[in-house]
Amino acid sequence: MANLTPARLFINGELRDAASGKTYDVISPWTDAPCNKAADAGPEDVDAAIVAARNAFDNTDWSHDSMRQKRFEIVSKYLDLFKANFERLAEIAINEGGCARGSVNREQVAMALQGWQDYLDVFPRVEWTKDYGVRETWGFKNIRKAYNEPIGVVGAITPWNAPLYVNVGKVVAALLAGCTVILKPAPDTPSMGTMFGELANEAGIPAGVMNVICGEDPAMAGEMLVTDPRVDLISFTGSTAVGRRIMEKGAPTLKRVFLELGGKSARIVLEDDPNFARNVAMGMLVNHAGQGCAVQSRLLVHRSRYEEAKAILKATYDAYADSWGEKENPAHTMGPVVNRKQYDRVLGLIEVGKQEATLLAGGNARPDKGPGYLIEPTCFVDVTNDMRIAQEEIFGPVVVVIPFDDDEDAIRIANDSAYGLSGGVCTGDVERGVRIGRRIHTGTFSVNNGMCIAGDLPFGGCKASGVGREWGVEGIEEFLEPKLIAIAG
Ligand code: NAD
Repeated sequence: MANLTPARLFINGELRDAASGKTYDVISPWTDAPCNKAADAGPEDVDAAIVAARNAFDNTDWSHDSMRQKRFEIVSKYLDLFKANFERLAEIAINEGGCARGSVNREQVAMALQGWQDYLDVFPRVEWTKDYGVRETWGFKNIRKAYNEPIGVVGAITPWNAPLYVNVGKVVAALLAGCTVILKPAPDTPSMGTMFGELANEAGIPAGVMNVICGEDPAMAGEMLVTDPRVDLISFTGSTAVGRRIMEKGAPTLKRVFLELGGKSARIVLEDDPNFARNVAMGMLVNHAGQGCAVQSRLLVHRSRYEEAKAILKATYDAYADSWGEKENPAHTMGPVVNRKQYDRVLGLIEVGKQEATLLAGGNARPDKGPGYLIEPTCFVDVTNDMRIAQEEIFGPVVVVIPFDDDEDAIRIANDSAYGLSGGVCTGDVERGVRIGRRIHTGTFSVNNGMCIAGDLPFGGCKASGVGREWGVEGIEEFLEPKLIAIAG
């Protein structure tokens, strides 16, 4: 077993076991064997967390205007404590999440903590009040002002693919806004959630403001949060299927929902791109085995240079053969997929791809690289956009390469997707790139590899990729709701 601290619940300021005493094994994606134990919360634990969060919101001054500066200081100290635990966070990301050592300095730990700092930096820009001026109605003067108030108790339901990053995206924004939080991490990666419990008291977070529930059942705790009238808002990142269910199940209590779901984003390489070879090669999907919602998993290449692109990709994949799959190698950013379910699913879709298209590289499980869920970087060519491998989110190290005829065709193909999360274009003509980007229905878009995802920028999707925005000032304001007060004067 890796040297990890067992994941526990954190309820009303207390780090504790499940009321039932039950635990479950956390399986390492590298070994297919237990790497840690976690408390297995039952309904009574979830209820206790809801009671604590509700009470802290309704009966303490956490949400009050007078606490804004104090909240900022507490959340800043919380970040310092996380930074001081960098190596522990790295061990969790590697062992529970299956990230390779080289990803620690990317989104798995370093970028997540940078995003936290970004939230602190944009905090002064939050609009707490809005003046609507004076208006006369029926002979009376009215002085009108909106106060943006914290929404209340937040249920934060998070996935396993970038657990620290997504936990930070929700928890930090909600706390800064003045909400109280129940964090429910994915069963595969409970310890990234538990860290928020372990460090809360030392940061000075009052009892009940921050709560963490982990458990083996993927749905029970989340469904309780979604259906309970004492929870005001659900912030969810995960699959589109569960996102839909959350909207449905949240309807009877008119739950506010933020949903960040899947994607099948397009990377368009135009024929005029002066860095064509580099930008085609960068289309290879390997970081964290392609398990990212905003990855550009459809590579669209102008038909006039399609054969050239195939040759570039073949050489790139061949050269990469020994550059992935070693857990502690700091140069490696690709390890296994997260669990057996994902392993079977990704391999199943690769088999579909072998029927539908031409396999250019990869296409196999790689038990020779280790006993875990290792699948080699895979690339399909001669793909058309109606194929399953072009429409379904694979969430593995698989890219599909699709030819297009002109800008209109590229835009049509990019938009011919249920999803609308992100995308990009590479071109020698930036204005042409922006024109194309403006026509593609996504929440973010990059021109020439511009970094459109950062902690100070709003992130989210349209269509089946979700509702609302996380990160940036907009991400904090998701947790506020305006109250309008008019004074007769
Ligand atoms: P999932 O949507 O099932 O799980 C995400 C979170 O929701 C987890 O914490 C899970 O325990 C919880 N959950 C599951 N069922 C729930 C329910 N009925 N009510 C409330 N909460 C519930 O995702 P998964 O099974 O872990 O992964 C499956 C697919 O989801 C992946 O293949 C991928 O396509 C997608 N995914 C997307 C993202 C993303 O960042 N957008 C992240 C992870 C997974």
